[in-house]
Amino acid sequence: MDAIDLILAKRDGGRLTDEQIDWFIQSYTGGAIGDEQAAALLMAILFRGLDAAELARWTQQMIASGTRADLSALPRPTVDKHSTGGVGDKISLVLVPLVAACGAAVPQTAGRGLGHTGGTIDKMETIPGWRSGLSPDDVVRILGDVGAVIGAAGPDLAPADGKLYALRDITGTVESIPLIASSIMSKKIAEGTGALVLDVKVGTGAFMKDLARAGELSEVMVGLGAAHGVHTTALLTQMDVPLGRTAGNALEVTEAVEVLAGGGPSDVVELTLALAREMLELVGLEVDPADALADGRAMDTWRAMVRAQGGDPTAALPTATEVEVIPAPASGTLARLDALAVGVAAWRLGAGRARKEDGVSAAAGIVWRATVGDAVTAGQPLLELHLDDPSRLPSALAALDDAIEITSDPVPPPQLILDRVQ
Ligand code: URA
Repeated sequence: MDAIDLILAKRDGGRLTDEQIDWFIQSYTGGAIGDEQAAALLMAILFRGLDAAELARWTQQMIASGTRADLSALPRPTVDKHSTGGVGDKISLVLVPLVAACGAAVPQTAGRGLGHTGGTIDKMETIPGWRSGLSPDDVVRILGDVGAVIGAAGPDLAPADGKLYALRDITGTVESIPLIASSIMSKKIAEGTGALVLDVKVGTGAFMKDLARAGELSEVMVGLGAAHGVHTTALLTQMDVPLGRTAGNALEVTEAVEVLAGGGPSDVVELTLALAREMLELVGLEVDPADALADGRAMDTWRAMVRAQGGDPTAALPTATEVEVIPAPASGTLARLDALAVGVAAWRLGAGRARKEDGVSAAAGIVWRATVGDAVTAGQPLLELHLDDPSRLPSALAALDDAIEITSDPVPPPQLILDRVQ
């Protein structure tokens, strides 16, 4: 076979055969096809798409480039959640132990943040001692003991995706629905979960800016899950306004622990419970997750999960050396708090990374003392910018230039859940 035949076929609107797809994924992952030809094929796919059969085969090959974990010996049903990435999205930190406390096992494989969206592993790593690198045996043991685990993707989890995603990132080929869907679903299917709920974010701070495209992506991913025996549903949720009151690694852990303790911002509680109900329904567990949050079982499971991964859940988290407070410029109702602007500002303060190999600051980030729909008074502290490196302040402030709008009219709080796909 020759890569040029695949490129020409796709460029001209044809389809790829099963044999061509198998050969391409194996040869590119193994280094026998160069980046130039792989990039040309990805660009052709971006314009021409993949039909359902091509996409199923493509995804299957990406899974087969590594090992699909087998968690079937666990006594509990397995279910996981994946978010397509937002600002202030600390939901997994509460949701994973909560759903485990309700009787399921949650084998979450999570990522690090890139760009303006945060990553669950970066957040968890602010807990002293906590480690994300687990062997497959560790994962099974912790799931058996605690029911909840949050681990980083190992080298055997769909390795074809690591190589393809890095190439897509530098060739303008990320924004293709079949390529996004196969990338996300190959990793989630390979992790071994029996069921999956997708939190597909829509809005300025999300990857998908409009509801129609987010719906299309959700349908494709739900279909891929079903084709591989992973019962999958999706909630489409708003990301024009950041979630909760904090964006930044340790700041978000603190907020998640507040929710586990029965408090925390109402939007974080609402979305966590909606996703937990969806997950429990998928595996047939008829329990109300609100009870496990209220009576401390979710907190007990959080502590056990953190300890099982070497962390100390009672240890103090890192705090910033400097906090810059921005007051509300007027009195009225907060009508806009732009998720992208907040995410970019937190990233510039040091909470996120520009390149995969960069480190992140544990303590840097942003706290907003009010969210959309809240009344504010001129001069009250509205935003807190937490940072360790003062040279980062001007660019973070610049990102927030047009982030806020205050009106004299009442503004309803944003609708969190926009749609559901099953
Ligand atoms: N996240 C992924 O894991 N893959 C994509 O292609 C896009 C977002």
